[in-house]
Amino acid sequence: MLHITLGPINQLDPETCPMGRSYNGWREGMSEEQIYNINRGRWVLGERADRERYVLFSAGGQVRLAVEISAIRASNGRDERDDDGRRTLQGTVLTCGHPVHDTHVGHNSPVTGNRNPISYFDSPLDSRTCGCGCGEPVPVRRDFLAGHDQRAIHERIAKVGSVTDFLVWFDKTWAEAR
Ligand SMILES: [Zn+2]
Repeated sequence: MLHITLGPINQLDPETCPMGRSYNGWREGMSEEQIYNINRGRWVLGERADRERYVLFSAGGQVRLAVEISAIRASNGRDERDDDGRRTLQGTVLTCGHPVHDTHVGHNSPVTGNRNPISYFDSPLDSRTCGCGCGEPVPVRRDFLAGHDQRAIHERIAKVGSVTDFLVWFDKTWAEAR
């Protein structure tokens, strides 16, 4: 899991910051959305970050925010990285009920004493298994092993009959359910 340690509020010049920010960092009372919006960039992130599914942001010794990563790109969201090589996280702010949020947010930081704001730690919450139910682990940011989504669909079609049988059954069931 990726872990980023935030410092106190730091003034920035919105004219020169590619994200247009006037500050970054953390102070007491910031909402999780605020923390995300001003601190998701611009970081020096190596290739290891591309294999991570979640990122935690800590400040003051506690985890303040957990995000599921969807992409790591330039601060304009389109290019691969900014001119100076820095990158910006895109993702979903996790809320109560998500195991990564509930395990970490509001609890002690899993990484302390590291001078570099960017760090990584091993978490059992990183390991996920294929959505077809086969029990095999899947690569980061994937829901199925290759081909297992197709197999799962076709197993269900076969339970109904032919593809035509399935379509008839599906359209009828769908119409009745709405
Ligand atoms: Zn599978």
